[in-house]
Amino acid sequence: GGGESVKVAVRVRPFNSREKERGAKLVVEMKGATTKLLCGDGSGEEPKTFTFDYSYWSHDGFTEQPDGILLADPGSSYASQQNVFNDLGQGVLDNAFQGFNCSLFAYGQTGSGKSYSMVGYGNNKGIVPITCDVLFKTIEASDGKTKYEVTFSMLEIYNEQVRDLLQKVNPKGGLQVRQNPKEGLFYVQALKKVAVGSYREIENKIEEGTSNRTVAATQMNATSSRAHTVVTIQFDQISKNDVGQETKKTSVINLVDLAGSERADSTGATGDRLKEGANINKSLSSLGNVISALADLSMGKKKVLVPYRDSVLTKLLQNALGGNSKTIMIAALSPADINHDETLGTLRYADRAKKIKNKAVVNENPVE
Ligand code: ADP
Ligand code: MG
Repeated sequence: GGGESVKVAVRVRPFNSREKERGAKLVVEMKGATTKLLCGDGSGEEPKTFTFDYSYWSHDGFTEQPDGILLADPGSSYASQQNVFNDLGQGVLDNAFQGFNCSLFAYGQTGSGKSYSMVGYGNNKGIVPITCDVLFKTIEASDGKTKYEVTFSMLEIYNEQVRDLLQKVNPKGGLQVRQNPKEGLFYVQALKKVAVGSYREIENKIEEGTSNRTVAATQMNATSSRAHTVVTIQFDQISKNDVGQETKKTSVINLVDLAGSERADSTGATGDRLKEGANINKSLSSLGNVISALADLSMGKKKVLVPYRDSVLTKLLQNALGGNSKTIMIAALSPADINHDETLGTLRYADRAKKIKNKAVVNENPVE
């Protein structure tokens, strides 16, 4: 028993130009903590109702500023990038400073707004860059008694293979995923971890990693990634306690932009692309199975095996899911009737994730 639930956020984006051209109908409603999905096909079917910890209406009620930033109109309930950061990103930072591991992952079909929320585009910076910016601002404003060390790594899981995004050339078949025999956690062998001393340095690394990403076009969205992207920031705080003993607080922050959750066949993929889709769905369906098993466990069911070992993604997210981590999932939603079924799938997935209980502990140890 015990533990703290995974926090789940939902965010709905504006119509894209294609949806506008086709006269798409809005099928998502939000009011307070409640999200409703309307049937959208005129069949008169009852709306489906869900509740989440955070609900972000980013569909309308905003104006693009001269610098490209989208800001809420007076009186509108539009949730800007800054609004989302203020809850989710700031929460991650507060927990990291206390020495907790933190994870934030974005789930949803291709084109639903995962990358917009996580990384952002242009001046509309997402949670990851704002979090890094505020992390260094907080460090710079501190009293100087604590020493801070920040390292950064970035990888992608593509076809169940791990590629280091901070290296131009990766070994054939990808990097090895190994298990630490002592604590049982999985890690990526030989993954490059770089020390970073400023926001600029992290920003450059994110850019470098992003340009190394595998981008395979699908019929659905020619620019979207079919890979899972994982940014990991390790944040160490070294300080002296009252008796002069040095202690180190460590927080591992995982920021995960998952591949599109849509079924491979709905994108019209064939051949290699289909195999790729099947593997992506293997990681995502394993994630679904892990989430279901953890939900069962937290509901009191006994003898549940959590199938972490079934995919690379679930191995690497083991701590984030049902382990030592404060975890947030952001479910990205399309507003349009044509995506009704995928959106329902995303809402159901998010609903199950709410049931997961984690047991985060402060990672603080004396320095030898
Ligand atoms: P995904 O990563 O899920 O495939 P993207 O984040 O790339 O989707 O979003 C698809 C498109 O929708 C992009 O052009 C993006 O700028 C736009 N978009 C997504 N979310 C928002 C939002 N909250 N506000 C404005 N535009 C958005
Ligand atoms: Mg994306």
